[in-house]
Amino acid sequence: MALIFRQLFDPQSSTYTYLLGCDATGEAALIDPVFEQVRRDEALVAELGLTLSITLDTHIHADHVTGAGLHRQRCASRIAVPAGCGATGADLYLRHRQTIRLGEHALEARSTPGHTKTCMTYVLDGGSMAFTGDCLLIRGTGRTDFQEGDPRSLFRSVHGEIFTLPGDCLLYPAHDYRGLTATSVAEEKRFNPRLGGALSEDDFAGYMRNLNLAHPKQMVVAVPANLKCGVPDSPVQARDPDWAPLTYSFAGIWEVQPSWLEEHLDLVQVVDVREPDEFTGPLGRIPGATLIPLGRLAERAQEIAKDKPIVAVCRAGGRSAQATNILRQAGFENVANLSGGMLRWRTEGCTVEGGQN
Ligand code: FE
Repeated sequence: MALIFRQLFDPQSSTYTYLLGCDATGEAALIDPVFEQVRRDEALVAELGLTLSITLDTHIHADHVTGAGLHRQRCASRIAVPAGCGATGADLYLRHRQTIRLGEHALEARSTPGHTKTCMTYVLDGGSMAFTGDCLLIRGTGRTDFQEGDPRSLFRSVHGEIFTLPGDCLLYPAHDYRGLTATSVAEEKRFNPRLGGALSEDDFAGYMRNLNLAHPKQMVVAVPANLKCGVPDSPVQARDPDWAPLTYSFAGIWEVQPSWLEEHLDLVQVVDVREPDEFTGPLGRIPGATLIPLGRLAERAQEIAKDKPIVAVCRAGGRSAQATNILRQAGFENVANLSGGMLRWRTEGCTVEGGQN
């Protein structure tokens, strides 16, 4: 029963989002998804052949808006949050020791208050991995100076619910500000400088009282939004481009399918970024395509009209993907890559100008 596991990062808020998937059933969960990364995370879920069935937040975040509401809007995933966290509109309010099935895997919610009053840690399959949110960080802990935080309660959460897991249980936090990615129970028990080793609850409380951190910049926006599970106020907020049925890849490229393009050639400008000898070569070209080789695209971008969407094409879809990046940098908004390039265009029997059969 293989587990599919990915750690994803949001550079803006230094948040980790975790994708867990069951290989056998295709069900997937996201822990602590970020609003701005919904499109990216959905692309990965789709490319791995999974279906997002649930999102789980470890707590009401103060530094970013959760992607939970937007994911639900786009793919009908359920929203799970800790019971009592104050968020309205969730599908599941998780209680201490409640278990969520994910195909052949299980996530157990453990109440680990202290950073906020209702923080949870999600423990996978009896303790192979645990997602500690902002309770236990790598060689650190979450702050305890707002959102009803309490250092003594955090200390007890860590010692009672996390340090009691198997020593080799891998721990994954909601944040890291130094680029560290994972730790283990045994490691944090020994080396956590705030509450590991021989450090006591009093030591920890004294340490935390004197952190003097500034409040997160996003707090006034993030907390109210997260109290509504990140459900967007207006549908416009994260709308995909609508000039064509585009798909977004985890590689960050908008793509269009040959069948759509063939039927809508009059609505777009096709820019072929191959070399001149390819353009006139055996693969032929798309009717009406303009040739601008990739190496000259940046300098010649001003030759392209601004009022029509652009579809970039090359032999197999690689160079043209790069072309879409160059065109975006040059200020073009509606740009897509022809998926699979001329090779797929021909395989699918679309009309070719020139070339050989
Ligand atoms: Fe937090």
